[in-house]
Amino acid sequence: MPIIRVALDVPVNILFDYLAPHTTANDIGARVCVPFGKRLVTGVIMEVVAYSSVSSKLRSAVHIFHDVPPLSKALLDLFRFCSAYYHYPLGEVVMNGLPGRLRSVKPFMPAPSFQYDLTTAGYSVDISAIPARNIVKHRLMARLRECGPMDIREVRQLSQRAPKALAEFIRLGWVEETSAPLPSIAASLTEISPVPVLTTDQESAVNDIAVKINEFGTWLLQGVTGSGKTEVYLRLISLLLRQGRQTLVLVPEINLTPQLEAIFLARFPATRLVSLHSGLNPSQRAYAWLKAQRGEAKIILGTRLAVFTPLPELGLIIVDEEQDTSFKQQEGLRYSARDVAIFRAKRANAPVILGSATPSLESYYNAISGRYLRLRLSSRAVKNATLPSVRCIDTRAAKTREGLSAPLITALERCLVLNQQSLVFINRRGYAPVLLCKSCAWTAACHRCASRLVVHLRERKLRCHHCGHQERFPPLCPECGDQDIAPFGHGTQRVEATLAECFPDARIVRIDRDSMRRKNAWQKMLKDIQEQRVDILVGTQILAKGHDFPNLSLVGILNSDASLFSTDYRASERLFAQLMQVAGRAGRAEVPGEVLIQTEFPNHPLYQALRQQDYDALAQTLLSERKIAGFPPFIYQAILRAEAAQVAAALDFLTRAAAVMKASQHVEVFDPVPAQMARLKGQERAYLLVQSSSRKKLQEFLAEWRTKLDTLSVHKVRWTLDVDPLEF
Ligand code: ADP
Ligand code: ZN
Ligand code: ZN
Repeated sequence: MPIIRVALDVPVNILFDYLAPHTTANDIGARVCVPFGKRLVTGVIMEVVAYSSVSSKLRSAVHIFHDVPPLSKALLDLFRFCSAYYHYPLGEVVMNGLPGRLRSVKPFMPAPSFQYDLTTAGYSVDISAIPARNIVKHRLMARLRECGPMDIREVRQLSQRAPKALAEFIRLGWVEETSAPLPSIAASLTEISPVPVLTTDQESAVNDIAVKINEFGTWLLQGVTGSGKTEVYLRLISLLLRQGRQTLVLVPEINLTPQLEAIFLARFPATRLVSLHSGLNPSQRAYAWLKAQRGEAKIILGTRLAVFTPLPELGLIIVDEEQDTSFKQQEGLRYSARDVAIFRAKRANAPVILGSATPSLESYYNAISGRYLRLRLSSRAVKNATLPSVRCIDTRAAKTREGLSAPLITALERCLVLNQQSLVFINRRGYAPVLLCKSCAWTAACHRCASRLVVHLRERKLRCHHCGHQERFPPLCPECGDQDIAPFGHGTQRVEATLAECFPDARIVRIDRDSMRRKNAWQKMLKDIQEQRVDILVGTQILAKGHDFPNLSLVGILNSDASLFSTDYRASERLFAQLMQVAGRAGRAEVPGEVLIQTEFPNHPLYQALRQQDYDALAQTLLSERKIAGFPPFIYQAILRAEAAQVAAALDFLTRAAAVMKASQHVEVFDPVPAQMARLKGQERAYLLVQSSSRKKLQEFLAEWRTKLDTLSVHKVRWTLDVDPLEF
């Protein structure tokens, strides 16, 4: 009888064997329900074999699902690669890559016989034409746009009144009834948004990639902010649509997906696009995944997890803002979606484009050493738009009011008079980062983390931004009893308050994770900015990424000095990328932009490079520093992390872990040390670094180490391996 080898969501790196009559190699990749201990669980069939090496009696599989087609060999290979490269159990990798609905022991919804889908007219309807109070219509439209066809049951699930709204959409010609399976839409390719004439840079980038569009290559598209990278993507996607192939677009932020989605839909209204991001509910995610798997969705837009979407017709992968650290998952399977994307493109023999104004030093190095193909967009795309001028304000000399210097206040005033928008950037939310006792220097700290509590004045609360712990303001200093305790330093709330005092008539909006928590807050804010209902924006880096604000002419940057002298060797690279992004918000259209940086170190090389907007100069400097210090990309690293209630337990585990491996001349093993964030949520954290100048040697070492680690006795210590770590 055939035996199936099944990947299950359990933390050991083995496949589980079951008896399964009538299975054939065609069932590889199918989900299967099997008994596991006393439970039933769902896994994926990885192999079908004739004999099992397991000596005990095998149990029988309960049910093989045929509700969706089996996972392709290519996808299973991708999972195998991730498991091997990140030294993480295959079963967990596979199951982590599937939408929740498909991990269940219940079959996925049976294919409905009738479906309702948007017509081309329905896709191009201006949503604002539907009155805002008609929530059901808005939801129905959004659902159809995001997830495509719905059957009547799903329509009813949406709302009791949704069928009535649906009937009206049909009457208006926005929706049509189709029978399943869905018709192919590749034939009706029409591009409706106006297509701009490419700039010379754009044109040569598009042409270079276009001649190699059907072969693997990693392209680094290095384009200054506003240089029109998106237009380059659009042209290439259009090329692939004509070939009936799929494009995967990865973006760092969930907030960026609606904006890009709108751009893509405007250009390719008849093309099915799905967005996969953490904001979807389980059935939306499963439907979107299924459309991609069936090859119906041609553009797949998503955050890092989307890199595991099945894509039978994959023709191109785009990783926008490739330097962004959110492409790296920081828990569980610690994969880098960018790196997985490159592997995937290679296997699919398709190009992958890494887009950025400030590429990661790893990618930059690969580009200058010829491993990646490099393309530059060196000026802004919009006619007459120029890069903003960047100036430093020396805060040792300038007087400040609550952290705002006089030159910055004057510049803000000028913008107000000219009716232009400005942005004050401070990468710290809350009112102040510290609550300080002026007589004994006590500061409020989180008892669960190695961090200070942040002052949130309006709510009169102290909050830990790492674990979420909050407490009330103490009336006096718990250390010395003095009443003279006060917020120290500045956060977004405090800057907002100061600006409101300076400019009582200005319309000021604060944008940080606190103010954007409400549903739709982000959409509303963007609209207010577009429609000129905002004068001054105060915000953290969530504002900096990718958004286009045509009337913004001034950017003020506060408190960026701290990262100049960080112990993290990646801090400079990140600070520069971040400041360049924020600076890039200014002067994107006809209004010229100005950037003012408040600093005590105006001559620091990082600010000099920023003034010149010369990333290459900085990148070269940083690379030569890294070369001397022996840091990535000149070395390959992995770390073993350990967490325990007692730091001694974590360190003891790491010491024992180091001892199981013999010294190797190719791989350096360092001593265990406490993590940068030494305590988090009540857990003490430590790590052990291993590195090698050969990726292959490091991988061999890790493979052997991982097997040995699995046999080490551990008591109350949680450990994980992190390959190519970004945090320490
Ligand atoms: P980036 O992502 O490189 O920062 P965007 O893709 O957001 O830049 O483009 C910036 C602006 O330039 C957008 O408003 C876009 O519509 C416009 N744009 C892009 N290409 C062209 C072009 N060839 N001609 C005119 N405008 C363009
Ligand atoms: Zn005190
Ligand atoms: Zn905390």
